[in-house]
Amino acid sequence: MRDPILLTPGPLSTSLRTKSAMLTDWGSWDQSFNQLTASVCRDLLEIVNGGASHVCVPLQGSGTFAVEAAIGTLLPRDGKLLVLANGAYGKRMAQAVEIMGRQVVLSHSADDVAPDAAELARILQSDPAITHVGVIHCETSVGILNPLRELAAVVAEAGRALIVDAMSSFGALPIDLRTLQAEAVIASANKCLEGVPGMGFVLVQRERLLASRGNSHSLSMDLLAQYEYMQKTGQWRFTPPTHVVAALRAALDQYIEQGGQPARLARYRNNCERLLAGMQRSGFRSLLPPELQAPIIATFHAPRHPGYDFSRFYEAVRDKGFVLYPGKLTQIETFRVGCIGAIDHAEIDQAVAAIAQAIDELGWSTEWQAETGAFA
Ligand SMILES: *Cc1c(COP(=O)(O)O)cnc(C)c1O
Repeated sequence: MRDPILLTPGPLSTSLRTKSAMLTDWGSWDQSFNQLTASVCRDLLEIVNGGASHVCVPLQGSGTFAVEAAIGTLLPRDGKLLVLANGAYGKRMAQAVEIMGRQVVLSHSADDVAPDAAELARILQSDPAITHVGVIHCETSVGILNPLRELAAVVAEAGRALIVDAMSSFGALPIDLRTLQAEAVIASANKCLEGVPGMGFVLVQRERLLASRGNSHSLSMDLLAQYEYMQKTGQWRFTPPTHVVAALRAALDQYIEQGGQPARLARYRNNCERLLAGMQRSGFRSLLPPELQAPIIATFHAPRHPGYDFSRFYEAVRDKGFVLYPGKLTQIETFRVGCIGAIDHAEIDQAVAAIAQAIDELGWSTEWQAETGAFA
């Protein structure tokens, strides 16, 4: 029996080679482990052409830890962050700032609407106190692709700094730091890079990081302190997630061998197209129009059957070897299916078949479906 396939946006299914890389116990003082960290950081910068302008600061913890650390380090105590929020991760970024006790303002758009560049320009013009703008590249709550380039151009034009949560896009969707003006790009090991969970990283403009002294409210989440310690010693400041770093090194080796970002994007696109087409054949309707759908995770309307219950659905599909993800919308009942991880069209096709079979077995596809002809 193989492990269940995780159709979730991280943790996700990883390759055997990536899992096997965790069979060594590394000492944190070991020179070879320090070299491993340095090589991972070099490659992460390389993926977005950031080597000339940015440095990579890795951080223990999940992706949110890296977001919180980046903001805590880069947003001055008297700075003000504008967050463009069209989902849960935008709101979470704003919440982190609120908890730090710094100024934050939210610009909301609906979950299925991308933030508008003209509206952003208007807000920045009307509020000169805003020093930073936070953008979520792919808002994983529904899988929407936000227009990073257009938004970044407006932020740069207005002379403000941009902080990008690229957690669920990094490595798959193109980001080029030679042309995109971003003070920081934040991501983690366990999404499109197909590593295991346990560390995030921030690619940050070197000058801005060095100018951030005194901003951080936190001992362990101070990226400048982490960076300076690493520069001086080659080591992480506190206990490093050694196995996670080794797994990420192996995942990056495979990423490069497979053709890097264009190849990763092509595989995920293919996964996503097969998923959308297959689910549509089974009567499901996806939430987003194709032009807003990132090839990362898709949101589907739940079956309208009165007996529908996500946990029962989850269990039934889980029994067939696939792990679904709950929806994150308050208004509409939805569920999500991820397209990322060490999977390709074979697993996607099997997943689509398993979902259809589960719906059948649960008896959720009878009279009402004949009546409406679709799940939503
Ligand atoms: C996954 C994700 C995060 C971080 O989530 P963690 O659960 O802390 O790893 C942040 N932003 C986005 C857009 C994400 O997809």
